[in-house]
Amino acid sequence: MRATRALIHLDNLRNNILQIKSCVASDVKMCIAVKADAYGHGAVECARTACECGADFLAVATVDEGIELRNAGIKVPLLMLSLCAPEEVKNAVAYDITPLVFDAEYAGLFSKECTLQGKKDFSVHLAVDTGMGRIGCLPCEAAQTAAGIAALDNIVLGGMCTHFAVSDSLKASDCEYTERQFKLFKDAVESVRKAGIDPGICHCCNSAATLNNPEMHLDMVRPGIIVYGYYADEISKEFLEAKGIRIDLRPVMTFESEVCAVRSFRAGASIGYGCTWTADRDTRIAVIPAGYADGMLRNFSTAGVKVSVNGKNYPIRGRICMDQFMIELGNDTETCRWDKAVIFGDKDFGALQTADDVARLTGTISYEITCGISKRVPRVFLTSHTR
Ligand SMILES: *Cc1c(COP(=O)(O)O)cnc(C)c1O
Repeated sequence: MRATRALIHLDNLRNNILQIKSCVASDVKMCIAVKADAYGHGAVECARTACECGADFLAVATVDEGIELRNAGIKVPLLMLSLCAPEEVKNAVAYDITPLVFDAEYAGLFSKECTLQGKKDFSVHLAVDTGMGRIGCLPCEAAQTAAGIAALDNIVLGGMCTHFAVSDSLKASDCEYTERQFKLFKDAVESVRKAGIDPGICHCCNSAATLNNPEMHLDMVRPGIIVYGYYADEISKEFLEAKGIRIDLRPVMTFESEVCAVRSFRAGASIGYGCTWTADRDTRIAVIPAGYADGMLRNFSTAGVKVSVNGKNYPIRGRICMDQFMIELGNDTETCRWDKAVIFGDKDFGALQTADDVARLTGTISYEITCGISKRVPRVFLTSHTR
């Protein structure tokens, strides 16, 4: 296996899910988001661990993601959070992937397909747009839309949901926005009930709201990023602790490589494409076989992301290439060829920063960093801290 790899700490994943569970009442269902290959961590392995920890639902984004889980023997209900193309409806039905619907035209595709396949009571969840501006019917249309869906052959309304836009912010106006979204959703659910239709499982909480708004849990929560060990923006560990909520999330991914060469350069030597960095002293440079094609993005260099080798941080020098980059060791002579070079991850595995730290430095979010670790990087699944 190549030196550049993503260690996936399934014991940390288990820890995180159990920690989240302890913040959620036992009668509230857990829908664990494993979309986008479990935020880059490997969907099948993460889904298995989530199921072992009692996940009631798993959330995917696409039909193909759902099929991958079904083919791996995952039996729990799968919720598909994005809309699929008409030609994917056949497989969504065949593989029992529960879609979010919000109009009779789209829901009708599933109804027709169920009739073709002889499926009865195919569950769909009604999405209500309470302020995200993405998918969902308007709250005032919920009852009518639910009635339209309930009237379709072979389809049952299994649940209702909405999605928060700013639940990860602590700004007063953002907190009010979330409160308003929640109220609109509750009223929409009530209107469906009033129309004589069972709304099914009602859910609205992403990671941030799962931790920060326990009064909004309803029947199910849908955590994603916290499952993988990163706090949701301003809903930080410190903020939660101040609120009396103790939670210890651990990063599930360690992104590591190895020093594949150590080179000595004279002052004046240039490093990398564009000759953007020139040594101002005699120095040593380590070459690491990872690049932007692996998710080691070019702006890591300009943002000042450092790489740890043997417990010390070293700066990236020059531009990150497609498949390699260089760090400056200076006059450190301890570092040798084949030493581990850790970009981010679990501190027990030599990381001095997490994907969240890298995200903050580079002006993005942890989600984008872990999803950006490309297919070329093998995932190594570890079940205990043995090394
Ligand atoms: C991705 C997603 C989630 C999980 O979001 P996190 O911020 O990772 O917790 C929940 N619900 C919907 C609809 C989503 O798209």
